[in-house]
Amino acid sequence: MARLDARHPAGALGPWFVDDRCIDCDAARHVAPGLIERNPGDGVSYFVRQPETDEEIDMAWRAVLICPTRSVGHETERRPPRQVFPQPLGDDVYRLGHNARNSFGAHSYLAVRPANRGGNLMIDAPRWTREVAGPLAGLGGVDHILLSHRDDVADAERYAEAFDAQVWIHSDDASAAPYATDLITGIEPVEIAPGVVAFPVPGHTKGSVLYHVDGQLLFSGDSLAWNPRREELMAFRRACWYSWEAQTDSLARFAASGLRFDRLFCGHGWSRDAADLLPPRPDFADHLLRLVADMSNQ
Ligand code: SF4
Repeated sequence: MARLDARHPAGALGPWFVDDRCIDCDAARHVAPGLIERNPGDGVSYFVRQPETDEEIDMAWRAVLICPTRSVGHETERRPPRQVFPQPLGDDVYRLGHNARNSFGAHSYLAVRPANRGGNLMIDAPRWTREVAGPLAGLGGVDHILLSHRDDVADAERYAEAFDAQVWIHSDDASAAPYATDLITGIEPVEIAPGVVAFPVPGHTKGSVLYHVDGQLLFSGDSLAWNPRREELMAFRRACWYSWEAQTDSLARFAASGLRFDRLFCGHGWSRDAADLLPPRPDFADHLLRLVADMSNQ
C-alpha cells in the first residue's frame, strides 16, 4: 500500500498520489500517460493532474496495481471499482500488470491463441498473485511461458506450476530459471510452436531473445523499445549488461531476417503499434534499419 506520510510533494492536489519509494521504473507512466509523469528533479513519478473520467480512474488504478514498490495510491480507496488487469491491448494480447520489483518493474503479457497453434503464451512474468492467476484461468490458462532474458523472470515458476506450462529461456540465461523445461540455444531463430519464433539477440544479456508471434507481434523484452519523444526505436545503451556490439549485430540480423512486425510489446520502455507511426517512416522495418545504423556509430 502506498504511504500517505511519504507522499511526494510534486503531485497535483487531490486524493491520488505517489510516495517517495518510487524507483523510476516507468511502468506507471506507461499505463497512465498524461496523468503520471516523471519529476525531472529526482526521477520520481507524480500525478500531473488528478483523474476525472472513469477511463482515467481505471488508468490510475492500473498504476496502483502495476507499481512494483506499491508507491501509487489513493487517500481512502483501496480496491478498484472494476477489474483493470489483465488489460486488453487488442489482437488477443493482454498486459498482466502486477509488475515485480525483482524484475525492476518489467511488463509481462498474455497472448491468447488457439490450442492447435500451441495455445496461450505468457511473455515474461508478473509477481505471483491470485489477481492475475484467477483471470488467467478464465482466459484459458497458460501453455507456454516465454522468458525474454534472465532479468524479467519474476514469479514465472509459480505460474508454470499453477498452469502446468512449458517454460522457455535461452541456455545462456538459463541459470535464472533452472525450472525451465525447454532451452533455446545458439543464435539461429527457431519456431518453438506454430507461428511462434524465438529469435536470439545476445546483447542486453547474453541470453536475450525476441519472440515473434503470428507474423505481426513482437515481444522484445529489454532488447528493443519505442522512444516516444524522438518517435523512433531505441535500445538501452546504459542498461546493456553483456555487449553493445553484440546487441547491434543481433538487431542487424533481426532486421535482415525478413520477420516483420506491426506491434511491439516491451518489457521496459514504451510499446508501439505500426498504425501509430508517423511519416516519413510508416513501418518498423525502416525504423529498425535506422536504429542499427545509429548503434553502429556509437
Ligand atoms: S511504477 Fe511505481 S516505481 Fe515505477 S515509476 Fe511508477 S511509481 Fe515509480
